[in-house]
Amino acid sequence: MKTTQTILIVEDEKDIREVLAFNLRREGYGVLEAGDGRLALELAVEKKPDLILLDLMLPVLDGLSVSRSLQRDPATAGVPVIMITAKGEEVDRIVGLELGAADYVTKPFSVREVILRIRSVLRRRAVPGEAAPVYCGDIRLDAADHAVRVAGVSIGLTVTEFRLLEDLMRNKGKVRSRAQLLDAVWGFSFEGYARTVDTHIRRLRSKLGNSAEHIETVRGIGYRAKDDRDAVEPGPGRPGGDCGGCSLPDGGGDASWEEEL
Ligand code: CA
Repeated sequence: MKTTQTILIVEDEKDIREVLAFNLRREGYGVLEAGDGRLALELAVEKKPDLILLDLMLPVLDGLSVSRSLQRDPATAGVPVIMITAKGEEVDRIVGLELGAADYVTKPFSVREVILRIRSVLRRRAVPGEAAPVYCGDIRLDAADHAVRVAGVSIGLTVTEFRLLEDLMRNKGKVRSRAQLLDAVWGFSFEGYARTVDTHIRRLRSKLGNSAEHIETVRGIGYRAKDDRDAVEPGPGRPGGDCGGCSLPDGGGDASWEEEL
């Protein structure tokens, strides 16, 4: 299980490509690099990478054309692609859906975020169950095609809202602290950004409509996805409570976090 996985980085901006290559090698991945779309296709066919990081704006052959060619060729159709784009989140969502990209990151991104996305996509492929839809009440989330349906009706979420909902639903019944959510969704965890989580939760809830009740606020800690049909795990502090590895803010009185609750 310890074979080296190879990532093909397709990015014409040399600085970005080199930073990604350096960090991916440090993470133990094998790295291939292409600065244009045609070379990317050649390397994909020839070297069979485990994953392709594909910038959308490329010389010679753009990312969209590269992605279509990859999907048409049986030799490369199964290789997951993570799109890199500088465009807005709504655009990315649509582009991602049309192209069947496994995931996408928007510029500017942190290297940490990219590594997190790569790990998540590769893990999802290694564990077949991870590609199956997850449910919470009448919310259905399909990671495979980045789709969320509420009572059968598709709703449009931004990348961030989708990841937030996915994290909560995959941890259904467990309390997720803001720090855990920041780490899982944004790829970093600074206390100063805790309010960012609240802002995105608010937007997510408004899109979920009546089903927003499945996203519960846990005072002073964070959030929990709950489904009335499932038994909710005992919370921290209660008898038998095992919070499944969640970390509580130390010291208790974290007033700045409580304000927004
Ligand atoms: Ca570019």
